[in-house]
Amino acid sequence: MSVRIAWYGKHFGEEPPLVGDESQGSGTIFFSKCNLKCCYCQNYQISQENLGKDYSEDELVDIMIDLQKQNAVNINLVTPTIWWQTIVPAIKKAKKKGLTIPIVWNSNGYENVEVLKNVSDVVDIFLPDFKYGFNELGQKYSGVHNYTDIATEAIKYLNEIRPELILDENGIAKSGLIVRHLILPGQTESSLCAIDILSSINKKIYVSLMAQYAPIYKSTENNELRRTNNEEEVHKIFTYLTEKGMLNGWTQDLDATDCFVPDFTKQNPFEQSL
Ligand code: SF4
Repeated sequence: MSVRIAWYGKHFGEEPPLVGDESQGSGTIFFSKCNLKCCYCQNYQISQENLGKDYSEDELVDIMIDLQKQNAVNINLVTPTIWWQTIVPAIKKAKKKGLTIPIVWNSNGYENVEVLKNVSDVVDIFLPDFKYGFNELGQKYSGVHNYTDIATEAIKYLNEIRPELILDENGIAKSGLIVRHLILPGQTESSLCAIDILSSINKKIYVSLMAQYAPIYKSTENNELRRTNNEEEVHKIFTYLTEKGMLNGWTQDLDATDCFVPDFTKQNPFEQSL
């Protein structure tokens, strides 16, 4: 079986424990296609338009080994869920060929527990999104009726199997769980509900709150998504997270300058953001 990959290489745009220093980076593999259809997808060229090239299982093994040779601190599998049946044997083969760096499962959170059980033996760090605090928003923006239900069950399971984020002596993540949440303009209630759900699972979960939403792709079809977040709504959500006692993780500044949309038609889609 093959997989479709849009780009692979060292990437520095992830949370600090997943990146290391300038000589390291996250060995990132962007898989094409996605099981969600988010109207604001920054990676729509690959997730919705299927840009990419097909690679065999053995070629995927070689890519992982090559990224390790380039001094990457991990293998970061982005939007891997639909390809899990090829990815799992490829990781096993790569480990036999000397792959030792941690494997990161960088997903949208919309995946069944059964799939996660199948990958759990070979994946060290789970990095799911938790996009919406209620199902209605998943229907409206991502085209599925049960996002919150499915993602909640997924994160409950991941919290059971990876309850702690374990770092090495240099602060590089070796195993664990980090949950990402993108704040959407005008959707504060959804973010507060998402925090309620996460805090009810485990207040110690590492949460990466991202504030830098930018209108793109089909997002402008929704009036409320035609703007960026404002300080008031972002501050409210950051404050709520702290009040709920969720103190582990990272928050992205609203005025950070890394609001960059990759262009996967380029040899290096992230050239300007490096
Ligand atoms: S889950 Fe991520 S990659 Fe998939 S459509 Fe949504 S934003 Fe794009």
